[in-house]
Amino acid sequence: MHCKTYRNFIDGNWRDALSGDQFETLNPADDTVVGHVAKSGRIDAQEAIRAARKGHEALQRMTVWERSALCDAVADEVQKRRGDLADILAREQGKPLLTEAYGEVDAAITGFREAGELVKWMEGEYIPVETPGVRAISFRKARGVYAVITPWNFPVNIPVEYLAPCLAAGNGVVWVPAPTTSACAGVLMECIAAAGLPDGAINLVHGPGDVVGDEAVSNLGTDGIGFTGSPLTGGKIAKRGAGKPMLLELGGNGPVIVLDDADLDKAADAAAFGCFFNAGQVCAASGRILTTRSIHQALAEKLTERARAITVGNPIKDSVTMGPLNNPSVIAKIEEHVADGVRLGGEVLTGGSRIKDLGSDQFFAPTVIDNVPGEALLNTAETFGPVAPIIVCEDDDDLIRVANSAGHGLAAGVFTQDLSRAFRFGEEIAAGLVNINNPSCYWELHLPFGGAPGKSSGIGRLGGKHTLRAVTEAKTITFNIQ
Ligand code: NAD
Repeated sequence: MHCKTYRNFIDGNWRDALSGDQFETLNPADDTVVGHVAKSGRIDAQEAIRAARKGHEALQRMTVWERSALCDAVADEVQKRRGDLADILAREQGKPLLTEAYGEVDAAITGFREAGELVKWMEGEYIPVETPGVRAISFRKARGVYAVITPWNFPVNIPVEYLAPCLAAGNGVVWVPAPTTSACAGVLMECIAAAGLPDGAINLVHGPGDVVGDEAVSNLGTDGIGFTGSPLTGGKIAKRGAGKPMLLELGGNGPVIVLDDADLDKAADAAAFGCFFNAGQVCAASGRILTTRSIHQALAEKLTERARAITVGNPIKDSVTMGPLNNPSVIAKIEEHVADGVRLGGEVLTGGSRIKDLGSDQFFAPTVIDNVPGEALLNTAETFGPVAPIIVCEDDDDLIRVANSAGHGLAAGVFTQDLSRAFRFGEEIAAGLVNINNPSCYWELHLPFGGAPGKSSGIGRLGGKHTLRAVTEAKTITFNIQ
């Protein structure tokens, strides 16, 4: 009943791939087909790039207030289709319908409304100059055409983090979504299309990232890049799009650091949320729990209790609080990291393996592993699954050393009641965002979000006015009025 065809949206029209090729997108909870999707090639992406130029020009001719109204119109359309979007998120991405999918759609609505509002206050400057009789003004101007490439873990909200500010500022967009969540992208695009944007303003091109994504990134017809995904792909994009302004939002392995003066129940609640929300497939997930000897036992017990209280199953069911992993490569990596942690001396307190008989092979039990050593992959790399590795450190210095020993530096959570320790950790942890007494994944759409320097978590900052700034450039006009 739900299986339909998802086509490209180019220059205001729904189109098949020029080759006519298609691929299937699957429900990870039961392996059924969710939809047939246009398998585009480079020529489809090139058409979209040309259309986006036209779309950009049309958007530029509009006033900021008109583009702001378009953002609101998209938000209204997403609101009308809230149930459809949440349903497809649960069936194709795998997140629980009631506890997570609706929330993601609501964030997307807020994203369009906020971009539409903030762009109205993106004011320019009147700049004093030395030369008599000359006046100078400077203001923000859209860069042109943006290549926007997005992952499958938040397939509705992450695209909106780019699409809404690009549209508000007047950029045309070529959007390449992750193949395994093509249907989510298709339904979101239906909402955007219903809002009455100029033809070409936003173009959706489905297909393999290393073909259509690469074309969007490397083609000289795009002027800027917005990418969220893995450090590996981010590295390729940085090379292929060299010279273009780019936002790269890459991987994370957020520590949650629990100090000996913390409220342990609050810390355990937050750590469990950070580890198991979206089955751990979150860039800012609490991928490792760092603590010290005196509280370690109590924290491990509380976290294990919370992991065991999670109901794993088909995300469409009301009672389910954790769904399957999105695709087979994710679960294979989790297994590799858990095996490595155990081999190096970690002790599985709960979970540790796939759960069979739930409908597919892609369910992994919420897992707590105690006494994981710092050199384990669970500490040094991004696991991207429902695993809480506990790493016991000596003291505050050691906690900071181990926290900063990972390759990533995106987000962190620190639990303490002591203001000076909170400041020390806030300042010294290598992450773009440090949340005191909140999980690593606490964030609001307008807060600056991105990787720390020297880490493989990306460059630039997403969020509210920060994204608007990133997708525009300063344009200066001087007037000789003598
Ligand atoms: P991925 O890098 O495999 O894919 C991301 C997107 O890039 C997909 O749309 C894919 O089709 C496309 N792609 C693949 N190869 C490409 C190429 N050569 N050129 C252009 N595009 C290409 O990542 P994923 O597995 O979809 O997502 C998970 C990763 O994303 C994790 O590492 C996670 O931490 C990261 N992530 C980061 C943030 C953030 O804000 N920092 C948010 C969510 C996810």
